[in-house]
Amino acid sequence: MTSLAPIGILGGTFDPIHYGHLRLAQEAFEQCSLSSVRFVPSGTPPHRTKPHASAEQRLQMVRLALQGQSDFVVDEREVRRTDPCYSVDTFGALRAELGLQQPLCLLLGSDAFLQLHTWHHWQQLFELAHIVVMQRPGRPLGNAILMADEALRQQYQTRLAPAPRLLHESASGLIVVLDMPQLEISATDIRNRAAQNKNLRYLLPDAVAHYIHSNKLYKTC
Ligand code: ATP
Repeated sequence: MTSLAPIGILGGTFDPIHYGHLRLAQEAFEQCSLSSVRFVPSGTPPHRTKPHASAEQRLQMVRLALQGQSDFVVDEREVRRTDPCYSVDTFGALRAELGLQQPLCLLLGSDAFLQLHTWHHWQQLFELAHIVVMQRPGRPLGNAILMADEALRQQYQTRLAPAPRLLHESASGLIVVLDMPQLEISATDIRNRAAQNKNLRYLLPDAVAHYIHSNKLYKTC
């Protein structure tokens, strides 16, 4: 049993950050009694196509979205790197900084979790963190995990924990699946709307919508 409340880590391209990301963080924060959530915008994502906005612009949008939220903080470490940066390296660095006792939770939408086996040295992540999977619209885990990569399915079946309170009892190694309000919002859809000069209100914080507008982001998506 560790006496430290877990810290949530939400990585993403955040191209741009939107209410789907923010609600995911809020649900994990409340349901898992996290002490904080760190948002880690990616620099040069190794397993995805190049983002549309620059790393600095994506970072700035995350900063704007988190203004006034003391439980949510931006972690700039991946944006500051110029070489490709893998999640396993980020979690290794966090573990070294925060110590062996601190529970860490990698927060993932169900779509991202079903691709976890494609990540660099993904199985090492279980030595460094718990994984909290939030069910995302159109990507429920239920049947999908039965059809998923065999090694991923095995890890899921071995590590699945029935309740988020168990995340407080060890520093890493468990998988917890949680429900959240289903928000059919994606960065892809927001970029397409921005390209068509459509109003982005109620999909993301106003400050982020204004930033996209004033910097003429996503005009050619
Ligand atoms: P894109 O449309 O460009 O692929 P995205 O909206 O999926 O982007 P990412 O930055 O790739 O955003 O997502 C970061 C994390 O947030 C992932 O774990 C993803 O599953 C999760 N996520 C994104 N949108 C939602 C949403 N609407 N509800 C719940 N989780 C989400």
